[in-house]
Amino acid sequence: MNLNDAIEKLPNVGEVYKKRLARLDIKTIRDLLYHFPFRYEDFRTPKKIKDLSSGTSASLIGEIIEISNVRTKKRKMLTKAVVSNESGSIEAVWFNQPYLTRTLKKGFRIGLAGRVEPFAGRITLVSPEFEVLTGGRKPTHTSGLIPIYPETARVSSKWLRSQVKKVLSQSAILVGGEFLPRPILEKHNLEGWDRAMENMHFPKDLDSAKIAKARFAFEELFLFNLRALRRRQEWEIKKSAAEIPVKRCERELEDFIKGLPFTLTKAQKTTLTEILDDLEQGKPMNRLIQGDVGSGKTVVAAAAAYLTYLAGAKTVFMAPTEVLVDQHFTTLQNLLEPKGMKIALHTGSKKPSGSFDLWLGTHALFYRKGDFEGVGLVIIDEQHRFGVEQRGKLLTKTKKGAIPHLLTLTATPIPRTLALTVYGDLDVSVIDELPPGRKPVKTFVVPENKRAAGYQWVREKVKEGNQAFVICPLIEESEKESMQQVKAATSEYEKLQKLFPELTVGLLHGRLKAREKEKVLNRFRDAEVHILVATPVVEVGIDVPSATIMIVEAAERFGLASLHQLRGRVGRGNKISYCFLFTEEEGPTVTKRLKSLEKTSSGFELAELDLKLRGPGEIYGVRQHGLIELKVADLTDTRFIKQTRESAQRVLSEDPKLSSHPRLARELERFSSDLVEPN
Ligand code: ADP
Ligand code: MG
Repeated sequence: MNLNDAIEKLPNVGEVYKKRLARLDIKTIRDLLYHFPFRYEDFRTPKKIKDLSSGTSASLIGEIIEISNVRTKKRKMLTKAVVSNESGSIEAVWFNQPYLTRTLKKGFRIGLAGRVEPFAGRITLVSPEFEVLTGGRKPTHTSGLIPIYPETARVSSKWLRSQVKKVLSQSAILVGGEFLPRPILEKHNLEGWDRAMENMHFPKDLDSAKIAKARFAFEELFLFNLRALRRRQEWEIKKSAAEIPVKRCERELEDFIKGLPFTLTKAQKTTLTEILDDLEQGKPMNRLIQGDVGSGKTVVAAAAAYLTYLAGAKTVFMAPTEVLVDQHFTTLQNLLEPKGMKIALHTGSKKPSGSFDLWLGTHALFYRKGDFEGVGLVIIDEQHRFGVEQRGKLLTKTKKGAIPHLLTLTATPIPRTLALTVYGDLDVSVIDELPPGRKPVKTFVVPENKRAAGYQWVREKVKEGNQAFVICPLIEESEKESMQQVKAATSEYEKLQKLFPELTVGLLHGRLKAREKEKVLNRFRDAEVHILVATPVVEVGIDVPSATIMIVEAAERFGLASLHQLRGRVGRGNKISYCFLFTEEEGPTVTKRLKSLEKTSSGFELAELDLKLRGPGEIYGVRQHGLIELKVADLTDTRFIKQTRESAQRVLSEDPKLSSHPRLARELERFSSDLVEPN
């Protein structure tokens, strides 16, 4: 037998267990070993029986003095045993398992572990874990640190523990477990695979468990990084669809920049330079621009589109909602049509005809039939699932092997350390600076008892010519809007209409027809609508400079980074802007978290905080990239993330095909195919 063998090769696993184990994703012997405990029950120091007190856990080894089944008054079956050792004797009971008396017999030496509770007036071990130790057998379940595993119906920790123990005792099975190159193990002081595996399941103390865990966490992140870097390699050997002669176009680009109604920020310029460098490489660009809301990503993308046009190729520009597409249409028309570019709009309700240089639409463009013939650049705005999936789509859309350059834009900041791993397969530019003159949005967490006063304040502000967004509670975080979410928005809208009879309230949600959306947004832009109630999904990227008030309902349901995005909808003009966070639940933890928005206006800082307070699962991109599937790694450990990335880089730079690391190559393949791809 070896690690790759199917789990049913184990003597105790037949068809029945095979099916049950599949629910835990255990299909091979390796999978069983990698099904790590999530905690350990501490039965290291046996207590004297006479010292046991109720309400505690205890373990002991003793002899069965007496055992029998009795029927209770409620006609239940009770197995009662008296167990004793030199420190005293105690009763143990089990319910409805009369067959136990076949395994546990008078005179047997047994190990017991479980809760001590009062039962029928005496302190008793109630339904303890047990094992027979007659014949000098060593305890597995009732002494030491006992691994507790994720379980499923009819696969108990006890069962898993026994199987793991058996596998670990057969060193022949474990041959070939190690796959990390020796220098890496040594450099990072990592425990070897065999010992780490043993200590992960049956550590002698918590320190050894920790050391073992560090090894597997390293292993996991190392493979993750390796996978990302390999993908990058694969992309880099592709040909780009458009040779863009950046040098020859310098004059035109300069004119374009000079013609803008503002000067580019330093960060915008740096990003643009990075893009130009990419475009000159002769291989397809794959770059992500990360920039806070309002940092001016669109104009940078437009410059790239302009260069592509000068090179005689087309650009496809995608945004997640029709509202955003419409907004970009206006912006890009202003920027690019004077340069002679023809822009076509393609949404659910509008289809282009004739020839064009830039094709603008929702992500639905990806799913449209036909290919991207003649397309030199693809720009994707505000998309949380960048990279992997889209490159896959692009490859299927481009026939002859030459692929467009890919530029993705996101306002969702990711902690820098994490970004390298999450976006390991692409290049990242950061626009970490807002155009000059922007004032931070004054943010307040508003307690419920100040709500009425808050509304009164809004009423007055609106009379002075301000406008407000009201974002209704987030019901579920998904890109598609649920009916429930639409209902929540509608009832908020009706409530506010009654509250502000003298003002015009508008409603914007994803289920509205494109024309209706456009209408309400235009009315908001023209200040005919004073208060716009919107769902959390629809909000992304709307640019209405005269809106200065952002109200978020049930703010505690959002991550800090999302709230930061929301408040980025205001503060775009010259006036001071405000953000009010109402909460459904109050309490010190909620308030403390939200208060950090009062203090900082950096999206990156807030993302770091999100990572610390809510964990990586709440961070966009982490889930989508499969990073969250990692079982052992701690994504808040930045030092570790760096180390694993550097190691992966070193290994690949010395041996790009991993030909001298066949085991590692095999493991990488397995890891990649196990990781669930986002869809
Ligand atoms: P985002 O990065 O959130 O997509 P946009 O590209 O929509 O931001 O830009 C936000 C606003 O800032 C737009 O109205 C844009 O014209 C303006 N803007 C962009 N760059 C600058 C700049 N360097 N100086 C002043 N305003 C700018
Ligand atoms: Mg934008």
